[in-house]
Amino acid sequence: MLTQRLRINRHLESLVGERHPETSPRALRKAAHYLATQFAKSGWSTSGQLVSAWGKAYRNVVAIKNPDRGRQGEELPPLLIGAHYDTVSGSPGADDNASGLVVLLEVALRLRAQPLVRPVWLVAFCLEEQDRLGSQAFASRLKTERRELAGAIILECVGFARNEAGTQQAPPSVPIAVPTQGDFLAIVGNEASRSLVRQLEQDAQRHAAKLKTLSLVVPGRGEAMPHTRRSDHASFWDTGYPAVVLTDTANFRNPHYHRESDTEDTLNLEFLSDVATTVTATAMQIAGVRS
Ligand SMILES: [Zn+2]
Repeated sequence: MLTQRLRINRHLESLVGERHPETSPRALRKAAHYLATQFAKSGWSTSGQLVSAWGKAYRNVVAIKNPDRGRQGEELPPLLIGAHYDTVSGSPGADDNASGLVVLLEVALRLRAQPLVRPVWLVAFCLEEQDRLGSQAFASRLKTERRELAGAIILECVGFARNEAGTQQAPPSVPIAVPTQGDFLAIVGNEASRSLVRQLEQDAQRHAAKLKTLSLVVPGRGEAMPHTRRSDHASFWDTGYPAVVLTDTANFRNPHYHRESDTEDTLNLEFLSDVATTVTATAMQIAGVRS
């Protein structure tokens, strides 16, 4: 447990700090480099997918783990787990979205020695805060290449949790009762990803008993509830791939959202670690070898 805490702190130290294409491009590149290095250290094959915007080149960092040789035969569609690595200008982006990146890095490490039946792709997306340009490029290329996906799990602000009543607001037009205590993980999918929502819910119960979850399945691409579209999963919804977002609900809970106070010391690392446990378990259910 202690080593995990140290590891998470080290990741946060390396990642937290403004990472913006215009106001801190160097930090943005440094974050991409750090993520690629860490994925490689955990034994994943890493590559960069170029995304051009405003005449400049950015990149999605992609890490792939394939099934062992004997199991390749007919390749099954991959499971994708993703999180954006850019921030808005003026915010160090600890919850938004170093928290999601830490979960990606933990999943990479925890799946390291696991035999798989289907490929897992871990993707750190660039430019989410710029109209999701990174994930839009990724999803539309997949579609052009007519590739299938088992599903996409997107991590968007997964490190902020508070136990006190009155720490959670309900997003407008959400048709379910939202607790006033900001200590649950929201799991938001659409009809195409309903089974992925159920799987994540079940794995949270089984493997991270303290983690409360609140699930919502929206019709279509969430057009009627714009707040449910506010991360990279929407790029997958728009191209017809099953996708789910895991979130602490960002500004509906976190007073530091998009501000310079979104710092490491405001994060709840136990909550963060429970999210990593849940996502790892679901990845194993979907892509792992079942006995
Ligand atoms: Zn974000």
